[in-house]
Amino acid sequence: MQSTTLSIGDPIEARCTKCRKNTDHIIITIAEEAPVKVQCNACSRQHKYRPPTVAKKPAVRQAAKPKDADRKEWELLQPTMDSSKAKTYSMTESYKLNALINHPTFGLGIVQRIVGSQKVEILFEDGKKIMRCQ
Ligand SMILES: [Zn+2]
Repeated sequence: MQSTTLSIGDPIEARCTKCRKNTDHIIITIAEEAPVKVQCNACSRQHKYRPPTVAKKPAVRQAAKPKDADRKEWELLQPTMDSSKAKTYSMTESYKLNALINHPTFGLGIVQRIVGSQKVEILFEDGKKIMRCQ
């Protein structure tokens, strides 16, 4: 088996622009051990060799990822959250790091970051949110 050396007439997988997919081709011409011209077995078209395209991975929903991470983090911290100690969220309160918050909409959260003046980042089950505070 000469697997590394290509010869004219060898079958090769290539991209066919007419078939619009990777098809089996036969090598017609070779230069410097690389196929130059190939003929498509499916449509018999002769064309320049194009390497077969790699199937694209299904698009990863990038936007969902950080939220999933937030959710996991929240689930990890959730057992440590004592809802009886949570303060009801209010814009007029001031919050310290790791303070427990009970938000009417987002539920239990934990202050994770002081964001400049009068803003804190709170991790809720729904994800991290920047909230106003005093
Ligand atoms: Zn073709």
